[in-house]
Amino acid sequence: MKLLVINAGSSSLKYQLYDMTDESVLAKGLVERIGMDSSILTHKPTGKEDVTEVSEILEHTTAIRKVLDKLVDPECGVLQSVDEIQAVGHRVVHGGEAFKGSALVTGDVKSEIRRLFDLAPLHNPPAILGITAAEKNMPNVPQVVVFDTAFHQTMEEKVYLYPIPKVLYKKHHIRRYGMHGTSHDYVSKVAAEVVERPLEELKIITCHIGNGASLTAVQGGVSVDTSMGLTPLEGLMMGTRSGDVDPAVVTFVMNKEELSISEVNSMLNKHSGLLAISGSSSDMRDITDGMEAGEPNATLAFEMYEYRLRKYIGSYAAAMNGVDVIVFTAGVGENSAVVREKVCENLTYLGVELDPELNKVRSGDPRRISTPNSKVDVLVIPTNEELVIARDTFRIVQENK
Ligand code: AMP
Repeated sequence: MKLLVINAGSSSLKYQLYDMTDESVLAKGLVERIGMDSSILTHKPTGKEDVTEVSEILEHTTAIRKVLDKLVDPECGVLQSVDEIQAVGHRVVHGGEAFKGSALVTGDVKSEIRRLFDLAPLHNPPAILGITAAEKNMPNVPQVVVFDTAFHQTMEEKVYLYPIPKVLYKKHHIRRYGMHGTSHDYVSKVAAEVVERPLEELKIITCHIGNGASLTAVQGGVSVDTSMGLTPLEGLMMGTRSGDVDPAVVTFVMNKEELSISEVNSMLNKHSGLLAISGSSSDMRDITDGMEAGEPNATLAFEMYEYRLRKYIGSYAAAMNGVDVIVFTAGVGENSAVVREKVCENLTYLGVELDPELNKVRSGDPRRISTPNSKVDVLVIPTNEELVIARDTFRIVQENK
């Protein structure tokens, strides 16, 4: 079966075409600047030259039509006909409490995703645009939705509730949901393969640290705690997001600086984190370069980032009463040897022993970076959220045949 995975943003659309007979990627690409002048389509067919095309793409339906044109193009295409695509899988950030797993798209499913707009105002509306656009272009092809939150629906009430009046949970569904579920799910399963032990008996801490960052405690293959909450703002210090702050900071700043709700939201989501402390960049590469050059603000930003990450690892080891495996993934986790080194330097009390040479190796494969004596296996595992979406889409379509 060939299937298309779509990750729609408000002005962008990423895609990957899979052949599920061997899970190979036939083509992938990205449409950027949808709805602006000069939209850019970058198409990367496997084994052929990449193509970049600039045109006017005003909305997502046209974006998908252009992608399908590229997929069957005699020069850069990989299909004879669009009819070869037998399913479409969509990434949806927020599935609330309604979705404990992936689902076949129906009218009810779309209504439920719309009901969740309040909880994910930036992310769920573009997902609906992507689904509608795919339905218009491929009306008879089954569509599946895969949620970032679903993996964390196994968290217990004591973990997901905030200690605030319970009526707020009942009325507005205010609770912790967690994000990056497909990534935490994927890397924890690969981790069990790497250490050659059954997933069911492992206590794993998965550190998905990219632009957005979250940690998950995965015990027996299920998420028992995760650092993001109602929204992707809670938890770790990130590129531009603050992560945890005293909630009173919000009202205090609003009062002192006369900020509106959207201004304070923007401050915490877009102008905080590494960017705020370094004063120059949200990118870990710039921060570590600055630190190496002795720049004090970059050094402080790095130290705060590493310290907060390490505290979370410690708290998840406490939550599970131990840890067998720590996994680093996503942009920073996969690429920054210095972040991994500094975090692990202060985890010796858990029995963590990093191999400095293995930590420096650059590779796109899952790998162990701890010594054979280390009580905890420390792994670097490149994440693959698209593959999880493709696998779930394949499974759900087979189940609903
Ligand atoms: P992601 O959101 O997973 O795509 O991660 C993107 C982030 O990864 C970037 O903003 C960088 O901060 C970080 N990153 C990518 N490459 C490197 C690298 N070689 N060293 C340190 N950080 C990196």
